[in-house]
Amino acid sequence: MDVDRMGDAERTAYLEEKLRETVGFAYQHAPAVKSNLDAAGVAPQQIRTIKDLEAIPITRKEDILAAQKEHPPFGGFATVTSRQMKRVCVSPGPIFEPLAQLEGGAKGLNVAGFGADDIVVITPSFHMVPAGMLYEGAALLVGATVVATGPGNTELQIQTMRQIQATGYVGFPRFLLSIIHRVEEMGQDFRRDFSITKAYIGGEMFTPSMKQAMEDDYGIQTWEHYGTADLGVVAYECPGRSGLHMYEGAIMEVVDPATGKQLDPGQPGEIVVTNFEKDYPLVRYGTGDESFYTDEPCSCGRTIPRLVDILGRVGDAPRVRGLFLVPREVAETVGAFTEVTTFQVAIRLSGLRDETVMRVEADVEDKEGFAKALKARFQDNCRLALDQVEFVPTGTIPQGSKVVVDERKWE
Ligand SMILES: [Zn+2]
Repeated sequence: MDVDRMGDAERTAYLEEKLRETVGFAYQHAPAVKSNLDAAGVAPQQIRTIKDLEAIPITRKEDILAAQKEHPPFGGFATVTSRQMKRVCVSPGPIFEPLAQLEGGAKGLNVAGFGADDIVVITPSFHMVPAGMLYEGAALLVGATVVATGPGNTELQIQTMRQIQATGYVGFPRFLLSIIHRVEEMGQDFRRDFSITKAYIGGEMFTPSMKQAMEDDYGIQTWEHYGTADLGVVAYECPGRSGLHMYEGAIMEVVDPATGKQLDPGQPGEIVVTNFEKDYPLVRYGTGDESFYTDEPCSCGRTIPRLVDILGRVGDAPRVRGLFLVPREVAETVGAFTEVTTFQVAIRLSGLRDETVMRVEADVEDKEGFAKALKARFQDNCRLALDQVEFVPTGTIPQGSKVVVDERKWE
């Protein structure tokens, strides 16, 4: 029986057996996991249920980075030597890690209908960071033909997609919209001249207006997923289209980031994942991403709970002039402007006043008119004035950056 369709009791029993195995193995073979449990006074035998995980402190990216500096290269998190790893990836930090599991990504692609008949372009980076490789590995697992284009170079992307008659896109949603925007500027018709009918998207906020543009205007069925460089894909969209089912190859908790306590359905908190990877087991890895989940039945028949919405980064909604600036609302605002490839809102101090500045990478002729329209929409959606629009060169804002950055220095 598929784990994602088991009854609650049966699924929990399955996951908890995996949990006991993983924690026991990691404690024995990964010194960093052992010292983390020892410091909390927790013996591995005490971790029998998912609820028991609350006793283990959350490990975050900065903990791994610090541990790696002290004990290079893997900080005591790996259970095998570097030589025994197939592929080592480097994330900003730098943080070293073996390539994460590919099965979660493959599961999402499979559920979305990607398979042997597909030619997919993979647009995230293949250079050092694992995103491109994770997607490539997953697409190969479902039997698709892979065209690894990587990021940037919009015109070459367009030529490639058209000539090879690619049927699927894998990558960031905003980049796909900017490709389509360029196609139209070049006088081509996306629906007529291209064969892309599905997109497997993630890595940044996907707003209703972006979804509507892709599905209604360009006939692209969109499939969201959630994952990180260290974990691979750990949640995926199903045909029920009402959230992202948790991948059964890991245990996902949604917790209060301050206390580490598990939250109930509907309560927003941090996504914390314990994976079942033998080579590089992560026990209670805090992603820093915020979401909430539901265990209501899904029309697709899967019983495994699903994340309803990825809300952004934990603590990512700072107060500006007394009001919360919510990343999702900012993303929704920019969603309507398809000429924008990348954006970020910075909050600065101008004297004693908070100032909002949106940096955009965009292909725009009438900059003044564009800024005016963007400011008006921002005011409507976010109920806050946008003070400045700053055009920056392509590549200035790294892919996957925070939507809102607080640059106020309090002295
Ligand atoms: Zn479903």
